[in-house]
Amino acid sequence: MELNLQPLNLPGIEPVRPIVIAGPCSAESEEQVMSTAKPLADYGIKIFRAGVWKPRTKPGGFEGHGEKALPWLQRVKKETGMLIATEVATPQHVELAMKYGIDILWIGARTTANPFAVQELADSLRGIDVPVLVKNPVNPDLELWVGALERINSAGITRLGVIHRGFSSYDKKIYRNLPMWQIPIELRRRYPALPIFCDPSHMGGRRDLIAPLCQQAMDLGADGLIVEAHCDPDKAWSDASQQITPGVLDFILQLLVIRDETVTTENITGLRHQIDEIDNALIELLAKRMRISREIGQYKKEHDMTVLQTHRYAEIIEKRGVQGSLCGIDPSCTKQIFESIHSESVRQQMEILNQK
Ligand code: PEP
Ligand code: MN
Repeated sequence: MELNLQPLNLPGIEPVRPIVIAGPCSAESEEQVMSTAKPLADYGIKIFRAGVWKPRTKPGGFEGHGEKALPWLQRVKKETGMLIATEVATPQHVELAMKYGIDILWIGARTTANPFAVQELADSLRGIDVPVLVKNPVNPDLELWVGALERINSAGITRLGVIHRGFSSYDKKIYRNLPMWQIPIELRRRYPALPIFCDPSHMGGRRDLIAPLCQQAMDLGADGLIVEAHCDPDKAWSDASQQITPGVLDFILQLLVIRDETVTTENITGLRHQIDEIDNALIELLAKRMRISREIGQYKKEHDMTVLQTHRYAEIIEKRGVQGSLCGIDPSCTKQIFESIHSESVRQQMEILNQK
């Protein structure tokens, strides 16, 4: 069956890769929702996710606050302007989500695996114009995934997308859910207009896998990312090990290299443009750093301090060296850069000290 697809057309969101959706696994309290949403919005994230109904493997875990949490998401929308997204698994969820103005719905992996549940959802979506993202089923079955898309699409949902969150396997090695990239790649081949989001949180199941999975997804042409972010990840009520703070998410997004799918090795203008923008930002940051350094120089002058404070210098070199090597930069390179920055800083402070 052909899918009748239209662009997601999310209000206020440019269709520029990656479209980022971020927020906690679960909406735990109004305070947690707001303390996560505000910094995300400040970092420029435009779509907030939070699970309100949580499918749990075993009973007894936190199953979500349900309807009670929907006004918290409304508040996020009102106070930050972000769009809000949540998971629906039953027609009643759809009805409530619509009642509270949820902008984007997603269907969870466990639900996609069940054609009865998907059909019920499809029937409840008939006549509603809302974007729906369908997560891959827990098992690596492309036809089951496509079947769910066909059911939802047949109900008149044309603003359709998918979320690739990986596939469950008995033999868990590195990943919580194996990426099996060939499956979303085949989906892209069949339906080039279908937007693909990658969910590195549920795929990796671990914080340290989020950055490399985001990069891999972008390199394979994903349109967006949906990442679990929490104001206090260690204290999260669900999926704590895979949630990151809004600050770490921003850091990861800043480091992403977005390759244009149509760029060949002969046509690297897009990438050069990105480099130019980054170099520009580097100079601006350096200038700002020097300005602050001159203020410190002024302070040292007024308090009769020496320009060179050895322990501080050692601390800077050490801290940035470690940070750099975590990002794959050779420590000798980081050392050279910071030695140069520091020596210019010292020169500018000396100038201030020696001013009459
Ligand atoms: C979720 O997004 O929090 C979730 C439950 O994901 P999945 O359906 O992929 O397991
Ligand atoms: Mn989760």
